[in-house]
Amino acid sequence: MFFRKKVDCRSKEAMTTFLLTHNRYQVDNRAIGSGTSYANKIKLHNLGLRGSQLEKAFDIYAADDDFWPQISGPIRAFEHETDAAYSVARMGRSGGYLVLARAQYEYPGYKSTCSKCGKLNFQEAGPEAKCGVCHSPRVNLKKPLRWIRTTGSSIDHAMAAEDFMDLSMEDLKLKVDLVLRFDEVCDSVRERFLCLLDNYMVVEKTIMVPTKVRHLEPVL
Ligand SMILES: [Zn+2]
Repeated sequence: MFFRKKVDCRSKEAMTTFLLTHNRYQVDNRAIGSGTSYANKIKLHNLGLRGSQLEKAFDIYAADDDFWPQISGPIRAFEHETDAAYSVARMGRSGGYLVLARAQYEYPGYKSTCSKCGKLNFQEAGPEAKCGVCHSPRVNLKKPLRWIRTTGSSIDHAMAAEDFMDLSMEDLKLKVDLVLRFDEVCDSVRERFLCLLDNYMVVEKTIMVPTKVRHLEPVL
């Protein structure tokens, strides 16, 4: 365990100290507002990597391929567990922080989809329904499409020791459990990143990109 700490959950003081001294990140985002929330620093120098691991980590960060989907599975599991009440957002310059954020499911209202190109449609598909783009048959979605949106990232912002101490033992423990679980998720993401370092290497390739050009040809 790298981020997750041990907390004595029988003591209000210990739980309050844990919450008060946890790393926080100041969010200032047009879409989700401002405030601070619990966070863990995941800048490469703060991940406890050894010399050659660190070098490789910089290589992977600089590569074109986005490695994030390969290591962020634990965050999807966390969203699922909390019924999307919470998520973990990557914030800061070059995504150097993982931040505990509030979230919710969003139902954009799509009812059908193209069986070939995947284009979504708000109308239900009748027997002859066709895709507007590629004219392949359109079929109804089995269940409403939904995704998870981060709605806010101010969690326990500006709470003082007295505010935490005033909570009941159960309410305080709920807060601590949530933050401990968040730390655990960050640990799992970090572990996956370490695995990636052991199992992948960055290979340089030259690729040919087809380009349209115009040039003059003599009229024969
Ligand atoms: Zn289509």
